[in-house]
Amino acid sequence: MKPETVCVQAGYSPKNGEPRVLPVYQSTTFKYDSSDAMGDLFDLKAEGFFYTRLANPTADAPEKKLAALEGGVGCMLTSSGQAASLVSVLNIAGAGDHIISSASIYGGTYNLFYKTLAQMGIETTFVPCTSTAAELEKYFRPNTKCVFGETLSNPSLDILDIEEFANAAHAHHVPLIVDNTFPTPINCRPFDFGADIVVHSTSKYLDGHAVALGGAIIDSGKFDWKSGNFPMLTEPDDSYHGVTYTDTFGSAAFIVKARAHLMRDLGPAPAPMNAFLLNLGMETLALRMRQHCANARKVADYLVSRMKGDGAVTWVNYPDLPDNPNHRLCEKYLPNGSSGVVSFGVRGGREAATKFMDSVKLAAVVTHVADARTSLLHPASTTHRQLSDEQLKECGVTPDLIRFSVGIENADDIIADIEQALNKAAE
Ligand SMILES: *Cc1c(COP(=O)(O)O)cnc(C)c1O
Repeated sequence: MKPETVCVQAGYSPKNGEPRVLPVYQSTTFKYDSSDAMGDLFDLKAEGFFYTRLANPTADAPEKKLAALEGGVGCMLTSSGQAASLVSVLNIAGAGDHIISSASIYGGTYNLFYKTLAQMGIETTFVPCTSTAAELEKYFRPNTKCVFGETLSNPSLDILDIEEFANAAHAHHVPLIVDNTFPTPINCRPFDFGADIVVHSTSKYLDGHAVALGGAIIDSGKFDWKSGNFPMLTEPDDSYHGVTYTDTFGSAAFIVKARAHLMRDLGPAPAPMNAFLLNLGMETLALRMRQHCANARKVADYLVSRMKGDGAVTWVNYPDLPDNPNHRLCEKYLPNGSSGVVSFGVRGGREAATKFMDSVKLAAVVTHVADARTSLLHPASTTHRQLSDEQLKECGVTPDLIRFSVGIENADDIIADIEQALNKAAE
């Protein structure tokens, strides 16, 4: 099935007389006729639902849909994107281990790695997202457990050279984990370029309407865990009756362990209602992404016209633009469009940027990004304000950067709003 069809149809197939639309199973638990029947579930011998922390039918449907869209063997939803990033790393790394991460990543992920993982004894080396496989060589250590990057980084809109990062990781028998939040599987499928694990903040385009926080981890099923680097997957888990994930679950070892071990112990489970909203949102994902990208291109072209014309805009970053430094990577990894997010600078620096923010009418100043309604944010004074100038630079965020998330309204109305706000900022 093609992506548009998968968005609508995958994950839930009602049987005779069952509800046509995925129901919200608003229940923490599930009833069985005998202890033995339930015991088989606990032993991972039978498939079924018993407690919503571990699995729930309303989450199961969008999990199957996302796995199908990304081309993976399994998916686990989490309560937020942050939880998905954390669990994806903790599933294969612990105290004394090391990971390599692209520096062009979401500020929340940067803090998670820089601060919290460090406190847990996992050290992160941040590297330029444009590194080649050869350049990445020097960062690997004997205790390196994974490489992490973001397909299209929030908010700097840098594009990860997935193939280079995957080649470097695989040469050292470790997986590449890619945060694919901004492009969504409609615009890029990282597994097609060698990534092994994909994570998402479903709070963004996947839900699409800014109604439910959520995250997801998808396993390609392609990574060979048996190099000796991952005893947590290839040796018996004494907390799960001695199960050896690679022996029992084969290509789905990683994603089964994420659920059976970490969801069990840490518990960042999605609420059934949020899973329902995610599933509903994803039905229109392919349609929405086309409109987001078409609108964003028009907005970017308008901003460039102001840059080249009266200079009210000082720079424009949209990877689809032919003279963008990321354009070559955009053509390779995001040929159908990058996303609806455009960033730019307003003439007059931080002060003019603030005036612009205060003057928009249709666009809303919100922390959120990547949903149906046009919104904007000034990262340096909000999401990234805890980072030093040095760290900001590493993440590709300048003090005058406005992150503009183009919605699915009519592009003419969005551009008219930008025009009047630019005029006010120039006063
Ligand atoms: C928002 C975001 C996250 C964090 O997701 P939450 O759902 O807010 O926890 C992670 N990665 C990227 C790229 C994001 O945009």
